[in-house]
Amino acid sequence: MLKKRLFTPGPTPIPEQVMLAMAQPIMHHRHPEFGEMFRRVNENLKYLFQTQQEVLTLTSSGTGAMEAAVCNLLSPKDRAIFVNAGKFGERWGEICRAYGVGTEEIKVEWGDPVDPRLIVDCLRNHSDIKAVFVTHSETSTGVLHDVQEIARLVRDNSDALVVVDGITSVGALELRTDAWGIDVVITGSQKGLMIPPGLSFITLSDRAWKRAGQSTLPKYYLDLQRAKKALDQHETPWTPAVTLLVGLDIALGMIRREGVESVWERHAVLARAIRGGSEAVGLRLLARSPSNALTAVWIPAELDAKRFSQTLKQTYGISVAGGQGQLKGKIFRISHLGYYDELDAVGVISALEMTLRDCGWRFETGAGVRAVQSQMSKADHTLLTKSAMQ
Ligand SMILES: *Cc1c(COP(=O)(O)O)cnc(C)c1O
Repeated sequence: MLKKRLFTPGPTPIPEQVMLAMAQPIMHHRHPEFGEMFRRVNENLKYLFQTQQEVLTLTSSGTGAMEAAVCNLLSPKDRAIFVNAGKFGERWGEICRAYGVGTEEIKVEWGDPVDPRLIVDCLRNHSDIKAVFVTHSETSTGVLHDVQEIARLVRDNSDALVVVDGITSVGALELRTDAWGIDVVITGSQKGLMIPPGLSFITLSDRAWKRAGQSTLPKYYLDLQRAKKALDQHETPWTPAVTLLVGLDIALGMIRREGVESVWERHAVLARAIRGGSEAVGLRLLARSPSNALTAVWIPAELDAKRFSQTLKQTYGISVAGGQGQLKGKIFRISHLGYYDELDAVGVISALEMTLRDCGWRFETGAGVRAVQSQMSKADHTLLTKSAMQ
């Protein structure tokens, strides 16, 4: 028997109680029981996003909410800044171009965080910028960007809206939408929310809603004002992915019981363990400022990258993610985002050790697992054990 274990940054593992809830007979989205559930889901989403604003649920993958941000906030010929520090930052630019929005690209070496001062310089050189599009946790490189500082600087230096792709950060990393003055935050269902792919979420500040009222780019399915109107009646404008919402209700209940700050701390502990375990077996990390949602690790040049990932998957049942774009075949990414606990970290590093040994990499056997365990023993155990698994 080979038990399969998923360590990819989306989709992520789904808790048993979520799967069981989704196996129930489907309910109708215009019946009162749906409205009752949707109302609870929305309250818990506001808590998760740390905002007093409504969080809109769209039936699309995360990219749909990214596209909704562009086409609801901007008008033809508007100009926007986007930070390209990886595959997902690059996507902001692609969406803007698809809608005829002019772009100023801030290109950052993949693996590095953006220096927020570069954004300020760009704002000073271009007084007509309407929005700044950034990524909080860049999933292609495992890099954390300082969106709190970026939001502060953009607000101090312009009227541009700050739009954050929080797809691998909401439900994993500290992100305080209102307190940090972020105008728009987006996430997707198959990452920190522990449910299958198919839903995306977006919240807008008062300033952003005002802009949405003036936007003239074309939109229909992704019209956020329409979604907001429906939400006021605890509905969605179109048939939502009801089954996923039923799962989400359970998953958000788990997050609420654990407490969002404990969820962030659990991710921090697991991230330190995975980083420590990888380095202890002699591997190097890609990210200079690592995200606690996932860890990107260089595959040593001496190893056969294909054999490495095949062994991990076929011999040990572990799925990790490879590199994207220019990093293809050069790195692997271990996710610790969502439904993971300490023994998951021990397991994945143990499998990594066995794979490295099979591929001829020399290191002290057990050093990785030992490093994971030492991070765990430093952590506050009450915090880990009262976690989402209840
Ligand atoms: C996964 C991901 C996306 C894209 O989401 P889809 O659900 O594949 O559309 C965008 N940004 C980041 C940071 C992601 O991790």
